[in-house]
Amino acid sequence: MWGWVPPLLQTHSLIFQLFFFLFSFTKGKTNPGAAKHATTSQILVPTDTPGITYLRPMETFGENDAPKGHMEILFENVRVPFDNVLLGEGRGFEISQGRLGPGRIHHCMRLIGQAERALAAACDQVLKREVFGKKLSRNDIVMQDIAKIRANIECCRLLVLKAADRMDALGNKDGKTRQMLSLVKAYVPHAIQEVVDTCMQMCGGRGFSQDSPLFHAWMGARTLRMADGPDEVHYRTAGRMELQQQRNNRMRGLGEYVVDESVVFRKSGDAISEGTLKILKEYSKL
Ligand SMILES: Cc1cc2nc3c(=O)[nH]c(=O)nc-3n(C[C@H](O)[C@H](O)[C@H](O)COP(=O)(O)OP(=O)(O)OC[C@H]3O[C@@H](n4cnc5c(N)ncnc54)[C@H](O)[C@@H]3O)c2cc1C
Repeated sequence: MWGWVPPLLQTHSLIFQLFFFLFSFTKGKTNPGAAKHATTSQILVPTDTPGITYLRPMETFGENDAPKGHMEILFENVRVPFDNVLLGEGRGFEISQGRLGPGRIHHCMRLIGQAERALAAACDQVLKREVFGKKLSRNDIVMQDIAKIRANIECCRLLVLKAADRMDALGNKDGKTRQMLSLVKAYVPHAIQEVVDTCMQMCGGRGFSQDSPLFHAWMGARTLRMADGPDEVHYRTAGRMELQQQRNNRMRGLGEYVVDESVVFRKSGDAISEGTLKILKEYSKL
């Protein structure tokens, strides 16, 4: 049995997700004085261990994410065998990093699928619905919105593909891969939230109702801007890594870019070639 109980687990009411009914994976600060990345551990705690109180199921946008759900759990002097520490004491962050990379990519892939579904629903609506004497789809602004949505979805898809490809090839400990993972985590949920938001607008009231999957997709995207870490934190990580990489960028040493106009640009007084002159003459007859 443990000779000590992690201080945060004794005193704080923490929110943990119940992965299944028998065990909860508990992450807590076990050594605040350790090196920055070694302060936390992950511990397997059987859910019937004395000292655990299930306070209430938590809700997000009024939903309790049934049947799994998210509980607020109070841990009071909970004791488990030391063997229940996963991977080793102080390696909680390491486990999170290993698990969260693939998890985040997976979330982004699902969001892209939801965006495709939202776009399909919106296109179906605007192709059918007629207002002020013409189909919604005949409005320039609607076509523009649809084109922008397609561009946004493809941007997300390519970003995720690149991150997944790097993770496959180099693993998620590689620096550039970790930057890509932070970027997709921050960029994709926000972009898809905006995509779904526009689709909801195109669908009218139906897009906000239980007759459409759109508001669920919107809630999912919005929630993923917070779950697994807020946008700001991931952009901060990605930005910090970019600055580190830029230190070694050889382009930094090139200095100011001076344009050699005598080489790059044609002056108005320069002679026009015979071929071009011919084309110009023919063109002027049109
Ligand atoms: C639906 C849902 C499911 C979740 N599931 C899980 C789960 O399965 N496992 C798990 O461990 N956690 C889970 N979480 C918790 C989630 O990871 C945290 O809520 C999130 O990391 C933010 O931490 P916090 O709530 O303590 O807010 P804080 O850390 O207090 O942050 C609040 C706000 O401060 C700002 N901020 C914070 N740090 C910075 C920074 N460095 N730079 C700039 N701005 C900053 C951001 O705007 C941020 O939104 C879940 C949360 C939600 C909403």
